[in-house]
Amino acid sequence: MSTSIAIGPFAQIISMNGLPLKGALRDEQLEVIEHGAMILKNGRVGAVGEATAIRSKAKTEGLFWYELEKPLVAIPGLVDAHTHICFAGSRARDYAARSGGKTYLEIAQAGGGIWDTVQRTRAASEEALTASMLDRLARLLRSGVTTVEVKSGYALTVEGELKMLRAIQAAGQKSLVDVIPTCLPAHIVPRDFAGTAMEYVMYLLTEFFPIVQQEQLAKRADIFIEAEAFDLVEARHYLSTLRQAGFDLTVHADQFSTGGSQVAIDCGARSADHLEASGEMEVQALAQSEVIPVALPGASLGLGCAFTPGRRLLDAGASLAIASDWNPGSAPMGDLLTCASIFGMAEKLSLPEVLAGITFRAAAALGLQQRGRLIEGQIADITAFETTDYREIFYHQGQLRPAAVWKSGQLISEASA
Ligand SMILES: [Zn+2]
Repeated sequence: MSTSIAIGPFAQIISMNGLPLKGALRDEQLEVIEHGAMILKNGRVGAVGEATAIRSKAKTEGLFWYELEKPLVAIPGLVDAHTHICFAGSRARDYAARSGGKTYLEIAQAGGGIWDTVQRTRAASEEALTASMLDRLARLLRSGVTTVEVKSGYALTVEGELKMLRAIQAAGQKSLVDVIPTCLPAHIVPRDFAGTAMEYVMYLLTEFFPIVQQEQLAKRADIFIEAEAFDLVEARHYLSTLRQAGFDLTVHADQFSTGGSQVAIDCGARSADHLEASGEMEVQALAQSEVIPVALPGASLGLGCAFTPGRRLLDAGASLAIASDWNPGSAPMGDLLTCASIFGMAEKLSLPEVLAGITFRAAAALGLQQRGRLIEGQIADITAFETTDYREIFYHQGQLRPAAVWKSGQLISEASA
């Protein structure tokens, strides 16, 4: 069915038109269309411009004009490029202990940490995982997120990780949010695996990934490079083998120690995520590569740690995406707009840089070119806020919620005034 509609007038349309993928962005570079309107055609953006021009174009083409009665600022639908929202259980007990000053080791010894989530997720049925994920996807949609990446990584057995990927796939099919699945069976070496970390990597490469490809469960693979997870040699073998097999790569890199970001660059990963520990050498190397750095302020806030050096990355010429890292352990908040607003202030980012980090630069971190900007031909994913000034969105640090969200041209929610 072919559907076209014209919508307006918006108080402002923030198109992200013309902004580059890499480097710092100044306020003057942001295209702000005052009193704008859009034509949406078959789920895509057909035209964007000033309301009077779009209204007469719509009239000429005989299109229905959808009159907005409230002042709305439209931005591209938000893209959350790094989450772990397929899980069972809660780690509130860990959070309280960490807040009270307990160390990683003390929490793990008390039965907390990632292993706790692994046991609960292993025990959960595929249906239960899908159901809890659908609740989280609904919350994301209400907060303006129209595309989300979701990782496996809390089962750490072939069958368990496949169960997670099937749950992620099922939730994606039932939700209006576009779900991009990523395999993260190399999250940590499971305690009950009888062998070395390299033997676990080999087990995944031979027993797990061929089934993922056969069942077309995911096209992306991830690994956690860190002292308590996988070292550089294991990661290089894992990533280079998967790249040859045709997987898109992303890496949990430089969270507490460096080295991971260089592996991401050498193996041709699309993104290197975390980077809180990255120094000048890592920042320069990332800036000279095509890898997209992804900041995860939710983890910094959830752990009480330093933020990713976003300002230094942008000034060096790197790209920068911002994601929530929503997960039950280190980043339980799961609100992209709040994370991005706080991170922007902490790192002294311009609002165009913050906006780019949760729209087209985040889409690029997922290898998606056709979303993240409100320009002709892009998927018509639109998040709109009841205000007349886009700066209000970040000024309220996530407390100004979207008044309307369009997914692929379809209006899916409109809060009553
Ligand atoms: Zn993560």
